[in-house]
Amino acid sequence: MGGPAPELEALFQQLNSQFFDSALTPVPVVWNARLTSRLGRYLPVEGRIEISPHLHREHGWGHVRDTVLHEMVHHRLNGSATRPHGPEFKAEAKRVGLASIHGPALQQGYRWLYVCPACHRQYPRRRRGVWSCGRCSRTYDPRFKLRLVRRLG
Ligand SMILES: [Zn+2]
Ligand SMILES: [Zn+2]
Repeated sequence: MGGPAPELEALFQQLNSQFFDSALTPVPVVWNARLTSRLGRYLPVEGRIEISPHLHREHGWGHVRDTVLHEMVHHRLNGSATRPHGPEFKAEAKRVGLASIHGPALQQGYRWLYVCPACHRQYPRRRRGVWSCGRCSRTYDPRFKLRLVRRLG
């Protein structure tokens, strides 16, 4: 797969209208089968969003939507931030309803999202298990046992 993708362009238009008042400059949204270690990327110089078709196969359309939206936030911020997922990105991702951790976490192979019941810090994990929050207690403490929130992918 590669080149023009009407289904991705349609998704871009829909999300643009839903979350950005159609104010984002349209950019090509294409499949890129060579993207294997990431879900997608925004190329600020070329002005293009690329989405991994592997994601589509393994995780379904919902993840494609979230990834396109994630890359659209980069597009909105013009890919200019020195830290691509810094505070500006997080605020905008939150506004459009993306869990800020979602894109990068999945890219690193994290499959499960846990949260500390006390401080609400999020912990993406590659496997399921029992842990307590490292910020609330330096040793295992059942009061801060991480709760499984959801599956990421
Ligand atoms: Zn990103
Ligand atoms: Zn905590």
